[in-house]
Amino acid sequence: MSFPSRPKVVVSSCLEFDSCRYDGQRVSSPAVLHLMEHVEFIPVCPELEMGLGVPRDPIRIVSVRGGLCLIQPATSKDFTGEMKAFVDSFLDSLGEVDGFILKNRSPSCGIGDVKIFSRADAELPTGLGDGFFGGEVMKRFGHLVVEAEDRLNDIEVRERFLAKLFALHRSRLSDYNSRLR
Ligand code: SF4
Repeated sequence: MSFPSRPKVVVSSCLEFDSCRYDGQRVSSPAVLHLMEHVEFIPVCPELEMGLGVPRDPIRIVSVRGGLCLIQPATSKDFTGEMKAFVDSFLDSLGEVDGFILKNRSPSCGIGDVKIFSRADAELPTGLGDGFFGGEVMKRFGHLVVEAEDRLNDIEVRERFLAKLFALHRSRLSDYNSRLR
């Protein structure tokens, strides 16, 4: 098997790839569009993969007895188990990648800016945190480049992201070549 010529980046599918948001929309992303020719994207939508459809009632993170749950307020269903099972199975089998570009503010994909509620029907959040997928990505792959898509609109953030992404890929390529010698 040959070494991939471009960096591998896991991306939230709703960013330019699929119309998979809860409301059936796709999100336009200049940063993702720009990278299409330069990286090998691995698109994933955790909410579809764990069994929800499009369109769907939104889900949110709710703090329950000191733990965090993924609740669909319209149906009162708890998708925490399904999401955790998908996240573990996807990340366990992912193999080597160089980075992640994740949709901001999503209870699944978000990192650090996701609203957390005290009740499923609460109007206002009590704080911010990670989405279920985004948080696990940070735990396991925080040493790589993991960035929220909206932050890539900032030129300095984007340049840092790209520099580290291509450096990581070069380093993997160099390790691969030295193993062949
Ligand atoms: S943010 Fe993540 S879970 Fe939500 S639609 Fe996009 S890819 Fe799917």
